[in-house]
Amino acid sequence: MEQIYTIPVGEAFDEVGAKSECGCPFCVLYRRLQNDELDIILGASMMEPDIRMKTNEQGFCLSHYNMMLRRKRMLGMGLMLESHLVEVEKKIDGPTLLGSKAQASVGALERLNGDCYVCSRIEKNLTAMISTAVYLYESDFDFRERFAKAPYFCLPHYKRMIEYASKKMSKRIFKEFYELCHGIEKKYVTELRGDVSWFCKKFDYRYDEEPWYNSKDSVQRSIKFLSGELGLDD
Ligand SMILES: [Zn+2]
Ligand SMILES: [Zn+2]
Repeated sequence: MEQIYTIPVGEAFDEVGAKSECGCPFCVLYRRLQNDELDIILGASMMEPDIRMKTNEQGFCLSHYNMMLRRKRMLGMGLMLESHLVEVEKKIDGPTLLGSKAQASVGALERLNGDCYVCSRIEKNLTAMISTAVYLYESDFDFRERFAKAPYFCLPHYKRMIEYASKKMSKRIFKEFYELCHGIEKKYVTELRGDVSWFCKKFDYRYDEEPWYNSKDSVQRSIKFLSGELGLDD
């Protein structure tokens, strides 16, 4: 088990347990990983040959290009793009092997369009963090209490966590784990539905005098719940 993730995973659960508006613990970890990766990529290691080779090959997705633009390290971005575009030009040309160049180029470009250096780095670490949470739940009683305080899991992370746990945990512990997670998720979605319904009612003049209760940001919270905060910069 990768011990290096034990502390950050525990801290993310403590953070959302203490402050429910922080939301999904894995989204907290995602944002942290994303910030670290962007700092690294625009910092000194941008010029490191092994990282450079990967960024040349993979490029970045639009939301990560936008986050990099907001950090205003324009020379760094220019240098990175200068060598990335060399690789892109090769993909436009298609490989020199026999067969249809157009077809080969389409294949290479399809892979490139779906790729992002930052996304793939985050993904690798986040997968290990989800495994760590599942492992800690199984092996550490103290962590179970911290885990149980999570306000909710966003749907993409909930699905991944349950899927992983169902394969890795013993049947008996998984049953208990699933009941807990399902209970957390069910409670949150029920509240959220109530808040969204109230939000819609508030547009009816007959409800003008009524308070908003917890519904004012229910549309934003629904999106956060449904999709995670994966695309948001902080
Ligand atoms: Zn999440
Ligand atoms: Zn990306």
